[in-house]
Amino acid sequence: MKVRYDENGIHFFDRRTGANLLIDELSVEPSQWAKSPRHVSFALTNSCDLRCGYCYAPKHRAELDFERLKSWITDIDRNGSLGVGFGGGEPTIYKDFVELCKYTSTQTSLSVSFTTHGHRVAASMAEQLSGHVHFIRVSMDGLGATYERLRGRSFEQFLSAISILRTIAPFGINYVLNADTVHELKEAIVYAQNLGAREFLILPEIDKNGGFHPSHLKYLRDFLTDYRGNLPLRINENCTDGMPVADPFKDLDPINAYAFVDARGILKRTSYELGGVDISQGNILYGLEIMRSQLIN
Ligand code: SF4
Repeated sequence: MKVRYDENGIHFFDRRTGANLLIDELSVEPSQWAKSPRHVSFALTNSCDLRCGYCYAPKHRAELDFERLKSWITDIDRNGSLGVGFGGGEPTIYKDFVELCKYTSTQTSLSVSFTTHGHRVAASMAEQLSGHVHFIRVSMDGLGATYERLRGRSFEQFLSAISILRTIAPFGINYVLNADTVHELKEAIVYAQNLGAREFLILPEIDKNGGFHPSHLKYLRDFLTDYRGNLPLRINENCTDGMPVADPFKDLDPINAYAFVDARGILKRTSYELGGVDISQGNILYGLEIMRSQLIN
């Protein structure tokens, strides 16, 4: 059980079960507040073997240095973070991926998750990862023919991938919501639940101008308002405006919840953000302080 002290109160987190308990009746002295966000995501590499048309991962070659990553992860663990997420590109392409998960699970108290298309995780890799990963996010944009058209891989192969991934850790589904997938949303949630998914993350596609399609947001708002299913749903943090979401946190610190490090080592508030603080040769805590002061001032 990890304990985090911050402006919201005292937060207990169990990485084995994913259970959270926030005691917000107790206030914590600012001098004791965690310096690092609850969750930090790292794009390990920009490389990916799929070619999804709506992919926003940068196309130049870049990947994070393994030794640098380990030092950042150790620092955020010591300064109050609860979990790390590894993504990309496709994180399982990163050559030290297994070692990184093992390091994080054995040398820190952080929860380890990763986001994957699933097609590269063979049974041998699954065996090595087992016990070192706490949650897996698997991308499934649409069902059957829709999935195959968008991802360029057979849906049958995807189902085989799920059967391997589920031997490692509990998994959830990531679902990009766009013109191709919006009308399969309801069916996909039921399908995911039957596959054994623990949650379903809906990611409205961001258009070339950096915005969301208004009709998709309206569809999503109506859908979430009427949703009565058992599978927990999540949506992207940057499209929660007007959505019926439950959020126990009242973060005033702009990076209390989340930070992202891209494959070049640029620290950002979100993966979509332009700019950021270059920490490729430096300390992540120092980078977080710079970013915090830039956002507050
Ligand atoms: S699987 Fe993900 S990273 Fe790879 S091309 Fe598709 S969207 Fe991009």
